[in-house]
Amino acid sequence: MTRTHLETDFCIIGGGLAGVCAALAAARNGAKVVLVQDRSVLGGNASSEIKMHVVGADCHGSRPGARETGLIEELKLEDAYRNPHRAYSSWDLLLYEKVIENPNITLLLDSDCDGCKTVETEGGRRIVSAHITRSFTEEEFVIAAKYFADCSGDGRLGAEAGADFRMGREGREEFDESLAEAQADDFTLGNSILFTARKYNTPQPFVKPHWVRPFTKEEFKLRPIKSFEYGYWWAEWGGQLHTITEGENIRQELLRIALGIWNYIKNSGEHPDSANWALDWVGAIPGKRESRRFLGDHVLTQHDIESGRVFEDQVAYGGWWLDLHPPTGMDAIDEAPCVQHHLDHLYSIPLRTLYSRNIDNLLFAGRNMSATHVAFASTRVMATCAVMGQAIGTVAAEAVRQPEVAPLRNLRQPGTIARIQQTLLKDDAFLLDVANTDPNDLARRADCQASSERMPAANAISGVTRRTEAGWGSWTQGEENCWESSELPAWLELTLPAAGLVREIHLTFCSGLQRELTLSASDHVTSKVVRGAQPEIVRDYDIYLDGTLEFSMRGNYLRKRVHILESPRNARAVRVACLATHGHSTARVFEVRAYE
Ligand SMILES: Cc1cc2nc3c(=O)[nH]c(=O)nc-3n(C[C@H](O)[C@H](O)[C@H](O)COP(=O)(O)OP(=O)(O)OC[C@H]3O[C@@H](n4cnc5c(N)ncnc54)[C@H](O)[C@@H]3O)c2cc1C
Repeated sequence: MTRTHLETDFCIIGGGLAGVCAALAAARNGAKVVLVQDRSVLGGNASSEIKMHVVGADCHGSRPGARETGLIEELKLEDAYRNPHRAYSSWDLLLYEKVIENPNITLLLDSDCDGCKTVETEGGRRIVSAHITRSFTEEEFVIAAKYFADCSGDGRLGAEAGADFRMGREGREEFDESLAEAQADDFTLGNSILFTARKYNTPQPFVKPHWVRPFTKEEFKLRPIKSFEYGYWWAEWGGQLHTITEGENIRQELLRIALGIWNYIKNSGEHPDSANWALDWVGAIPGKRESRRFLGDHVLTQHDIESGRVFEDQVAYGGWWLDLHPPTGMDAIDEAPCVQHHLDHLYSIPLRTLYSRNIDNLLFAGRNMSATHVAFASTRVMATCAVMGQAIGTVAAEAVRQPEVAPLRNLRQPGTIARIQQTLLKDDAFLLDVANTDPNDLARRADCQASSERMPAANAISGVTRRTEAGWGSWTQGEENCWESSELPAWLELTLPAAGLVREIHLTFCSGLQRELTLSASDHVTSKVVRGAQPEIVRDYDIYLDGTLEFSMRGNYLRKRVHILESPRNARAVRVACLATHGHSTARVFEVRAYE
């Protein structure tokens, strides 16, 4: 083994969507990052290894407009445009490309975090370095960093460092949660192995391996099989065991279950329409729903979620149902595979649930955040994990700008939190009831006019970048916040109070947040999604400063675009001329920002 020492600002363990978004956010905000992923591809449960579709606060499109923006939206838009044919490997490679093209990120793939060094601090403990083993190159790495993040799902780094965590279900009384079990236990949600299948022109046999689990019709009475191309999230098992230490036994049983289901489909006679179908992929790595959950200064609860509580240190949000499953999964044949408790509101995720209460410099994001088992049943979905990831990356970049490495809870001071929130908004994240108040944004003081107004031009500088539906919480107004022209081409013009230096223009377009957008192997889910550029996005536009053409964009397919001049120009009028969309008949622009 050769040993390499690396030094960085921020070391992230785990390259699922939480870890990828944490790395991109920190790096784009100026921090040096090392991202460590134990497998060969990024994406975690969303990758080609496991193939879960990314869902979030819009609940498969049933809560229009609540879709997460920021980094996860950029990734989804890029994927829909470049990968209309739905190749999961293309999605893996998109994540890989986004990470490796950023010069601030060092990516270590096939690299396992298996230990760390800590020092005691006044009233706590700090991680000094993480130990990484990459067996296939016979290398080990010692990564020293100012701040660390555990985005590994299982929480290996935090556990090695002695971070407080829990595993299992709380008793009802502990947090007064009506959906909790009467008594605490060690059970979690289980794991699943997914598969995909293809339809051929001729009948395809399935020869049953001798080791598959036999199934009867009775066992599917609450788990109906409606299609064959993608199966089945409810093929779940193992939550009654330790999902880390007994992971191998769980995997073997899940393979018996996955192929047992396929054998039932093909050979029981109950599904004759499966005759021409054959398996084309079976997962080798179980998708894991739950293991360790770290403890922060606050544990997010059912109450926080159901009340739509707006925390003053919010850095992310969620909205997926409280989605509880029986731990024994397929064995619980008389129980529904999930019970989804609908939420009236969106809810906020505070910074104090994303750092360790006893390790000064440890952040976390994803399914291992500080939440009760019941709250986790909502926070665990991957778009929510991704916005948490963007949040902690932004927090880490802010932390490394501080004069010294200090406990992360110090960042909860109002001025610092406000700065973090404003950075998140500038990077197209959404926070409940937080508007753009960035004092450096020249557009905040501008007048706004347009060639035509189906919706007012002034909405483009309202400080909010989506329609805030009235049902999202007590703070919402149901306002549109978007300039919409009545035809194309159309222009929108900001007039600043006086001429001044302008260097950066930020544009936020409508990307159809009222629709679901995700990569999915399910034909049903895909039928609701536009695989390609979203029709509302302004495809071709020009930007003029005081009448002079400065930028000409053709073929845009992203919601957020930033244009930076090589050197600032003195100007008073900023005009965005929208020439064409990807199909929509009007231009829709949620925000224009301008910076010196
Ligand atoms: C069957 C199933 C169905 C689900 N359905 C959905 C759904 O439809 N939509 C949805 O959005 N969510 C769904 N979920 C939940 C969601 O997939 C997880 O909660 C989510 O993946 C958590 O994201 P994460 O980034 O925290 O962790 P992960 O996606 O698990 O990523 C963590 C990454 O860290 C890596 N890692 C682990 N340990 C180490 C280590 N020691 N060193 C280096 N790297 C390490 C892992 O390889 C992994 O790639 C489902 C989960 C399962 C299992």
